Amino acid sequence: MSRTLNLTEGLTQYMVDHSVRGHPVLDELRAATAPLKHAGMQIGAEQGQFMQFIVRLINAKKCIEVGVFTGYSSLAVALALPTDGTIVACDISEEWTAIARKHWEKAGVASKITLKLAPANDTLDKLLADGGAGKYDFAFIDADKGGYLGYYERCLKLMRPNGLIMVDNTLWSGAVADPANQEKDTVALRAFNTFVHKDVRVGLAILPLGDGVTLLRKR
Ligand code: CA
Repeated sequence: MSRTLNLTEGLTQYMVDHSVRGHPVLDELRAATAPLKHAGMQIGAEQGQFMQFIVRLINAKKCIEVGVFTGYSSLAVALALPTDGTIVACDISEEWTAIARKHWEKAGVASKITLKLAPANDTLDKLLADGGAGKYDFAFIDADKGGYLGYYERCLKLMRPNGLIMVDNTLWSGAVADPANQEKDTVALRAFNTFVHKDVRVGLAILPLGDGVTLLRKR
């Protein structure tokens, strides 16, 4: 029997109402993203706040984000970082990241975020080539699902021991547990979940938060 609550809309709202504290620019960015066709790609406010909680808990300073979209998660993390904290933010969309940049500036955290408009693997390989292995504290992976294993391998090299990699959408609306669903992204996420479960280089937890969040701590 499941020990995890099956969240109803009402209970989800209650959870948000009793935990999320909000921030004017985060709220503004949420409103600016809502009309977009891909608005569903934005993480929930409760997940953003959870990321801030984690980043503060592990005293993260050097962060990586793979998949920026309109910048909500990077904004949330940047707000939680100390003044000398940094994020290398990877995306390939000029259009979406223009919205991100505008809000990073408005919140006064733009100086903490370096946006790299290039395939994320190229950016991560460059960080490794520049001596970045073992130097990073936190990474958030939320991009094309077929790329997850490649992003994970690179981020794992970049993390310091006890550095944390957070991976989004790992429960994929429940599709990963439905054998009848053989859609490409579902298959990719299943492969990722199976791989990290057996990966002795990390400790892990899957949280039923948002669309499923996997936490991977480098040993
Ligand atoms: Ca996502």
